[in-house]
Amino acid sequence: MGIERTLTIIKPDAVEAGHVGDIIKIFEANQFKIVAARLVSLTKKEAEGFYAVHRGKGFFESLTHFMSSGRALVMVLEGESAVARLREVMGATNPADAAPGTLRKLYAANIERNAVHGSDAPETAAFEIAYFFPGIELV
Ligand code: ATP
Ligand code: MG
Repeated sequence: MGIERTLTIIKPDAVEAGHVGDIIKIFEANQFKIVAARLVSLTKKEAEGFYAVHRGKGFFESLTHFMSSGRALVMVLEGESAVARLREVMGATNPADAAPGTLRKLYAANIERNAVHGSDAPETAAFEIAYFFPGIELV
């Protein structure tokens, strides 16, 4: 494992609801360091490119519309086993299934408007970091 980097997005629902500070506080309390950050307002095309693995699924149109519906905060987080640990801190995709204390249990409204994104594997993290931060050094 060792020190890794992963990509997180505080999604438009959580930014709109004013949960950015609370979510960053939880990242920092869990020993994640923010090594890059961008506040973005994604176009539909950018959201489609980011979630390209889900193209063709029933929720793709709605998901990419939601992800391009307002400001989102994209960050690269660094820490021990960051990819897997971030997924634990986030909780299950559907907040109804998310464990108590996880970000999605705390802040998600439903399976689509679920407050945060986190890379699901180291290879995915590399693709996603390059998608938003093409200049960042990946050492
Ligand atoms: P993310 O990739 O955003 O971190 P995830 O890895 O937990 O979430 P994925 O299966 O990759 O879940 O789905 C990507 C996103 O698509 C989800 O976070 C959610 O916003 C939306 N989504 C997934 N499944 C559904 C569904 N059945 N209905 C509506 N939206 C969904
Ligand atoms: Mg995913």
